[in-house]
Amino acid sequence: MSADKGLLLTNTLTRTKEKFVPMDESNVRMYVCGPTVYDYAHIGNARPVVVFDLLARLLRQLYGANHVTYVRNITDVDDKINARARDEGITIRELTEKTAAQFHADMAQLGALNPDIEPRATEHIEEMKAMIETLVERGFAYVADEHVLFNVPSMPEYGELARRSLDEMVAGARVEVASYKKDPMDFVLWKPSGEGEPGWDSPCGIETPGRPGWHIECSAMSAKHLGETFDIHGGGVDLTFPHHENEIAQSRCAHGTPYMAKVWLHNGFLQVEGEKMSKSLGNFITVHELLDTDKVGGRKWDGEAIRYTLLQTQYRQPIDFTVKGLAEAEKQIQRWGDLFRKLEVVPSENPQPSAVVIEGLLDDLNTPRAFAALHKVARDARGGDKAAAQELADNLAFLGFNPKGWAEQQEETASNANVDPELAAFVEDLIGKRLDARRNKDFAESDRIRDELAAKGIVLKDSKNKDSGEIETTWSLA
Ligand SMILES: [Zn+2]
Repeated sequence: MSADKGLLLTNTLTRTKEKFVPMDESNVRMYVCGPTVYDYAHIGNARPVVVFDLLARLLRQLYGANHVTYVRNITDVDDKINARARDEGITIRELTEKTAAQFHADMAQLGALNPDIEPRATEHIEEMKAMIETLVERGFAYVADEHVLFNVPSMPEYGELARRSLDEMVAGARVEVASYKKDPMDFVLWKPSGEGEPGWDSPCGIETPGRPGWHIECSAMSAKHLGETFDIHGGGVDLTFPHHENEIAQSRCAHGTPYMAKVWLHNGFLQVEGEKMSKSLGNFITVHELLDTDKVGGRKWDGEAIRYTLLQTQYRQPIDFTVKGLAEAEKQIQRWGDLFRKLEVVPSENPQPSAVVIEGLLDDLNTPRAFAALHKVARDARGGDKAAAQELADNLAFLGFNPKGWAEQQEETASNANVDPELAAFVEDLIGKRLDARRNKDFAESDRIRDELAAKGIVLKDSKNKDSGEIETTWSLA
């Protein structure tokens, strides 16, 4: 058996699509930068989670379920966390626990499996300190004014990943000019903690307690769980510089290795309704808002429709996230769910993907190609071909969807006919009031009515009428 399974991945280090060959096919190792847990994950944060979840599923398919180690960290020490905890008047621990739990709940709704290992920064402070001391001993870092800084000019290859000129890097890193820095590009490995800030005994003989910089966290955690070098490092394209460039500098200089990860993968930017997502533009969308409130498009959305939408674009391409796209994804899910219901198809115990779907994914995770292949299978299934429907369901399950749940939802919609007419009238009345509330943008009232009905076991489902553009609501008994 060859380690080359025909997988091609675009490596940011070389800017080329390369054949992926793991260093050890009995343990394919991937690290992805995880969330800084101070706030709800926004839809841009969800993209790498879904993309690398799919890649982990593909690697397990190719190399075997027990031959892949997927690590995604939790950054639970960071200045943004300190500031937010202060604002909310809660402890740092309360904030990070609450936010990490919310992150897990949101990502589970998107069909993303947990990584194999999920290290927390606060549990790896000793490893970070050891790495920092090694960097100082080897002449790549220095102590100044109770800080430890990485000296960028000490590493000639610095900038290889980002491929930027020094001027661009200085501008891109928004470098903090500080008198204690030898070079403006030098970045923080360790800094002193003030009153009320989390702090640990400092390395390198510094007396004031301190805390690590963000970049050293990933270098220390990846080395601990995957080794000094590993196969794949992933993250959003916005992390390429300075975060990933700095991770490479720290890891390579501390371990004396020619690379940190062999392949660097970056997913493209995410926009919302054609614009850059930002709090000031008011188009900042969290996964929680999509799943649990009526804030986006006046209704709640299904996590699987979000996953489906994110996977319609190849991971390197920029994606425009729209309500229209979400509604289309949901329609597709309903249509396929109806098909599975009618043909009484559920995914196999151990669902295997089709060769055509694997072919698409092997080509740099070309999900549009994989879905195009599925649409062909779906056409045969619609003609009543049960084997094709089975193939479709198995592929969807492999891609991280729950087609069994789709069929069950359609079942509920279809079985509403024999409900007590008095209850039906009551529900219809409240649905009308909720639609009124929504037209008046009173989403609190709209949420309240939804919750009131949910407490009675009534589940609402919104969809947009194709012709009128109006939102329509159907309901079912849970
Ligand atoms: Zn990182």
